[in-house]
Amino acid sequence: SRNAQGRTHQFKLVLLGESAVGKSSLVMRFVKDHFDEYRESTIGAAFLAQTITLDDDTVVKFEIWDTAGQERYKSLAPMYYRGANCAVVVYDITQASSLDKAKSWVDELQRQAEPDIVIALCGNKTDLESRRVVETDVARAYAEENGLLFMETSAKSASNVTDLFTMIDQQADTTR
Ligand code: GDP
Repeated sequence: SRNAQGRTHQFKLVLLGESAVGKSSLVMRFVKDHFDEYRESTIGAAFLAQTITLDDDTVVKFEIWDTAGQERYKSLAPMYYRGANCAVVVYDITQASSLDKAKSWVDELQRQAEPDIVIALCGNKTDLESRRVVETDVARAYAEENGLLFMETSAKSASNVTDLFTMIDQQADTTR
């Protein structure tokens, strides 16, 4: 799409991360402003598209590929992140192993994806603060050291979900 200023915003955005960290729920929250407590896990990959209009009337089309985190689908991932402008690597703040998994996705993206890809690290499920095991400062420090954007979100409470996608859009726009 092309707005009045002639700026083109055509995004391919991929979501990666361990199974059950909330990738599909983040997309569902963003696209439909809806949260489903008992949703089925993603099989393979699901595609969702959403057009949003930002405050400055810039129209942004997000193409969101949600790949399942299961190991048996790992070989499919390059198909989804090839040509992507942006990647959101999601972990669950209540599962330490999910941050390790996120780091391995970041490594893979930095080696294999487009060199100018914008990568955001997203710590999801902040509504479960009492069960938090990944400290914000630790994850943020890792993100900064590796040139990643960083946001903590809750797909359940809707906290920071719009901010996450807006932040990515703004960063992708300046690196274009
Ligand atoms: P995916 O496999 O990464 O796509 O994860 P899903 O979106 O399928 O979510 C896995 C489970 O975590 C589901 O039961 C969701 O309802 C739940 N979930 C997702 N996001 C949140 C969140 O922000 N807070 C809480 N409490 N649960 C969440």
